[in-house]
Amino acid sequence: MADNKDKKDALVAPEDDFTEVSADERKGQNAPKKQDGPKDTELFCSICRRPESQAGHLTKLGNGMFICSDCMQKGADMMNREGFGIDSILKQLQDLPGVRLFNLGEFSGLHAANDKEENKEPEKRFSMEEILPPHKIKAQLDRYVIGQEKAKKLMSVAVYNHYKRIINEQKLAELRKKNAELKIPDPNVPEPVEIQKSNILMIGPTGSGKTYLVQTMARLLDVPLAITDATSLTEAGYIGDDIESVVSKLLAVAGNDVARAEHGIIFIDEIDKIAKKKNMSQRDVSGEAVQQGLLKLLEGAEIEVPVGATSKSAMVPLKTVNTKNILFICGGAFPTLEEIIKQRLTKKSSIGFQADLKDKFDDDPNIMQKVTVEDLRKFGMIPEFLGRMPIIFSLEKLTEDMLVRILMEPQNAILKQYEALLAMDEVKLTFEEGALRIIAKEALKSDTGARALRQVIEDFMTDIMYEIPKDDNIGEVVITEAYLNHTGGPLIRLRN
Ligand code: ADP
Repeated sequence: MADNKDKKDALVAPEDDFTEVSADERKGQNAPKKQDGPKDTELFCSICRRPESQAGHLTKLGNGMFICSDCMQKGADMMNREGFGIDSILKQLQDLPGVRLFNLGEFSGLHAANDKEENKEPEKRFSMEEILPPHKIKAQLDRYVIGQEKAKKLMSVAVYNHYKRIINEQKLAELRKKNAELKIPDPNVPEPVEIQKSNILMIGPTGSGKTYLVQTMARLLDVPLAITDATSLTEAGYIGDDIESVVSKLLAVAGNDVARAEHGIIFIDEIDKIAKKKNMSQRDVSGEAVQQGLLKLLEGAEIEVPVGATSKSAMVPLKTVNTKNILFICGGAFPTLEEIIKQRLTKKSSIGFQADLKDKFDDDPNIMQKVTVEDLRKFGMIPEFLGRMPIIFSLEKLTEDMLVRILMEPQNAILKQYEALLAMDEVKLTFEEGALRIIAKEALKSDTGARALRQVIEDFMTDIMYEIPKDDNIGEVVITEAYLNHTGGPLIRLRN
């Protein structure tokens, strides 16, 4: 804690400097009323109320306030204890007459107070020429993300609209400014329509590519992306990260550049874990309360976020970030949603065939695509939250075919990575089609989607990567179906 001294400095800032106490001041307003023990002229510590004869040397704070070295030390110790309520100590001190707290950030020019208008980085201006149309965004996504056609299309349109909305907001702001100057608005200039924010809610099983889709999108757009887990969030004041910490994460990713952060993307994963808890007797601080807390961020609000930390305290400098142009994407597996959808569909259909219908829906691998807002509300998402998520879609469950393609096709496919590694040893690596199928089948068993592919492949590729460089004569390795079935070995071809 290199800044212990600074912390003490910030804890109690006098209106004058700390000074020694003169004899005249000893007769001042801090002098106690007539009491037994201490002398008439004796000073008291303004915090513990002990007289100077018991507390030892007192330091003057200003306005006739004094503090003993024990209280000063206690204050500093409390602040050094991580997680202790620094803010509450500061609040108590602030309430004492004559004590003025100040933030060291004020002096380094980082505090939000200094961040107001004149010091704020200029807002980034977007133009239509700069933003990629949806078909081009999707074409780029296709190079990385296999399948998920509907999701890629919806997401491309949502992102395109999001940046169009920002341009529209810029126009609106200009028009409002002009009208304010004119006093009477020009009747010939039509007022632009306000466009709703296109925050996205993505539903899909684990490993189906939710995070990957968002990461790829952010990279294509060259905007900062912060990924947060909703399970770590709690209502402010409880153990866990408070909700606004998602914005400070984004600011950190944007290199503390507020203008860049304000056009970034925040991805909140595991959003299904903050569903309203059923039959809760206490306050639902990590469920419904987090959803409530997210509302103002999703809609757009000015948030004071700590720079370089996840929680606010008087020691941390603050910056103001407006979330109105931040694209929020939430993702979750929503495990019991399938049942809710099936129940709704079965109920809606004609009476008498319920058993048949139940079977039909049980066999539908993409039942999640039929999700409605009502289903999500039943799951435990509050209507206000869903109202701020106008784009809701589900990802497909990955099939064996998709997994085989994921192994081979994306720009940075796992197989391409292994090929590149062995190419450095001047060895060609190929896989038999049957071998790829075995890897995909194995991965499907694990229920972690495409994430399992790497584990399966690493199990046998480690041996190959270890053995091949031993022999300079090897020119090609073919991973055969027999090798993966444990009935044979890989095919090795020597150099000519
Ligand atoms: P989740 O849906 O749990 O967020 P991820 O996006 O983290 O899943 O997927 C895990 C990994 O699987 C990704 O890093 C990516 O390499 C791969 N992956 C998943 N889905 C796809 C896909 N549709 N196309 C290409 N790779 C994928």
